[in-house]
Amino acid sequence: MGFLSNKVDRSQLQPGDHIYSYRKRKSYAHHGILVEPDRVIHYTAARGFGSYSSVSAGKQRKKKNRCENCGHDPNVEGGVIKTCIDCFLKGHDLYKYQYGVSLAHFLYKNAGTCTTKQSDPVDIVISRATELLNNQGFGEYDLFENNCECFATFCKTHKPISWQAYAVTITMIVLVGITIL
Ligand SMILES: [Zn+2]
Repeated sequence: MGFLSNKVDRSQLQPGDHIYSYRKRKSYAHHGILVEPDRVIHYTAARGFGSYSSVSAGKQRKKKNRCENCGHDPNVEGGVIKTCIDCFLKGHDLYKYQYGVSLAHFLYKNAGTCTTKQSDPVDIVISRATELLNNQGFGEYDLFENNCECFATFCKTHKPISWQAYAVTITMIVLVGITIL
């Protein structure tokens, strides 16, 4: 993993890592927490994670089969789910979200790829994700206010972060900078 890219090989991952992958030509990213070598807990819109495979725009598409590896059924499952890495990636590249980066690094990188906040210890991160999976306790999915990035950053830091929060942070940094100058 270099300075410019968070792209990783799955052999480089450790349980407790916050991973993500881009969808639809990088228009958005899907985020999750690796809890076992090949299991990811992630937050999806109700049925939305697999809805591309069901009914779309009035067209009946062929239903996708339940995953033989992890048992995930993309036709019915939504909310906080636990799947294998393949079901999480859906054929897209794998990236690792970075924690505890310097402010310079954070400002240089794209929003939604890193944070200056430190991650909590691995066992706490995994137990938070597992608890949210067991209790389905992350509320209503909202693309902007309560999304998969909020879920993963909440597991890592106990505070949800999304790109909107970054926008606010950057605005504040710029305003403070202007004030100081
Ligand atoms: Zn699977």
